[in-house]
Amino acid sequence: MATPRLNRDYERRPYWHATMSPLHDRSGRQLPDSVDVAIVGGGYTGVAAARKLAIQGAKAVLLEARTLGWGASTRNGGIAHPGFKWGPRSLEKKYGPELARQLYAESMEALELVFGLIRDNGIDAELRPNGWLELAWAPSHFEDFEAEARALGAFRTQARVVPKDQLRAEIGTDAYHGGLALDPGGVLHPAKWFAGLVGLAERAGADLHEATPALAIRRQRDGRFVVETSRGAILAKDVLVATNGYTDGAAPNVRRRIVPIGSYIIATEPLPEDLAHELSPTGRAYFDTKNFLSYWHVSADRRMVFGGRVSFLPTTTDRTARLLFRRMLEVHPQIAGYRVEYSWGGKVAMTFDRMPHIGRLGGVMHAVGYSGTGVLMSTYLGTRAAEWLGGGEAPALSRTRFPIVPAPYEGRPWFLPVVGEWFRLQDRLAVRGIDQGRAADPEQGPDPGA
Ligand SMILES: Cc1cc2nc3c(=O)[nH]c(=O)nc-3n(C[C@H](O)[C@H](O)[C@H](O)COP(=O)(O)OP(=O)(O)OC[C@H]3O[C@@H](n4cnc5c(N)ncnc54)[C@H](O)[C@@H]3O)c2cc1C
Repeated sequence: MATPRLNRDYERRPYWHATMSPLHDRSGRQLPDSVDVAIVGGGYTGVAAARKLAIQGAKAVLLEARTLGWGASTRNGGIAHPGFKWGPRSLEKKYGPELARQLYAESMEALELVFGLIRDNGIDAELRPNGWLELAWAPSHFEDFEAEARALGAFRTQARVVPKDQLRAEIGTDAYHGGLALDPGGVLHPAKWFAGLVGLAERAGADLHEATPALAIRRQRDGRFVVETSRGAILAKDVLVATNGYTDGAAPNVRRRIVPIGSYIIATEPLPEDLAHELSPTGRAYFDTKNFLSYWHVSADRRMVFGGRVSFLPTTTDRTARLLFRRMLEVHPQIAGYRVEYSWGGKVAMTFDRMPHIGRLGGVMHAVGYSGTGVLMSTYLGTRAAEWLGGGEAPALSRTRFPIVPAPYEGRPWFLPVVGEWFRLQDRLAVRGIDQGRAADPEQGPDPGA
């Protein structure tokens, strides 16, 4: 049978943008001269911080270089899952049992915060809290799932191993060696959730500005900061950097610790009801265990939203659409014949330890580096940063060291093609049973988008 060809007439923009009500223009508003807190970056992190600071009665200003949500917050896969790249056993090994538990607990608090804000405020974010399914790309990955489920149980998260012969009850594919099903988490419409969060922030009194890049952050002798913007300087007692995968020279200390990586998604036309049900009988989010991972779900209007880390080289949405289309049909050949209607990408922030980070560098606070956990963790860490700035408790995540990328590096990740080839090799070896990556650390969890 001939390989189905990808149609070329899809829109090169996020499906989420096409289906959200446009946010109104917040450019050209008068900037304050001085504030308690200047927030740089207007995605989930920055807007969540602005909301919380307004609730706490602080005078804060949010500066977004382009438009609110222009970064990953309205482009992502919409998969909301607790946990990190590392499962409980690896977390314990890295951080000790006490801190590991606290870190995991914070990821569960992140889920409660986001789902709670959506529910309590009646935000139409198409939230479907049906959990997620991790899919074993190699037999050795499936063998790890049993121990991972036990470790998750000890962290009070129920996880169920799904053998290959029972996989069809969870997902309409035989392409994997089995799965691990977890109930906490789900999927949402990321841009509608973002718009809802902006509404909450502004109702609380947040002062949000678009088309206002921060150009430099300087500390004065008196400990206060001058934030130079394209529209003048602002004096701030504190600064929060919330720029994640889009971090630029305004925050060189943060940029030195983050590797921006492209992640890409395609969305099909709406699928017939019976096919959508066959693909996703339980309505979960899905990821696989590959290094070049894929992540996907069936949207509320029955589109296949299929994303992945398809290239570590500079690329285009046309090239990534072709690669994702091919991968999608390997997993779900049933979709052949249905059109792709959208293709897009955005930047995630990977850190060298694959963990999110919150803390201070040179006195400037940051909440960044979500490494694929940002749909939940960004709102959470933005909120916790605001609480911490207001005198509240420091999050457990602030107790982990934020490593520098161990290579001469000023924001242009020249080493990514080499890393990409290494990952590709690991994926090939894994299916042949010569598993290096996951065997070395068998508890890698999902990192959608990353
Ligand atoms: C394609 C894709 C799929 C993803 N899928 C998932 C997923 O399914 N689940 C998950 O958990 N995570 C996913 N992610 C990651 C998640 O979207 C991010 O972690 C999260 O949105 C980060 O939010 P943020 O507010 O920190 O940063 P962003 O939303 O990226 O916002 C940063 C903002 O900072 C602004 N900025 C940068 N520099 C300056 C400056 N100097 N001055 C002013 N503003 C500046 C940028 O313009 C940008 O708007 C995905 C990401 C992508 C790109």
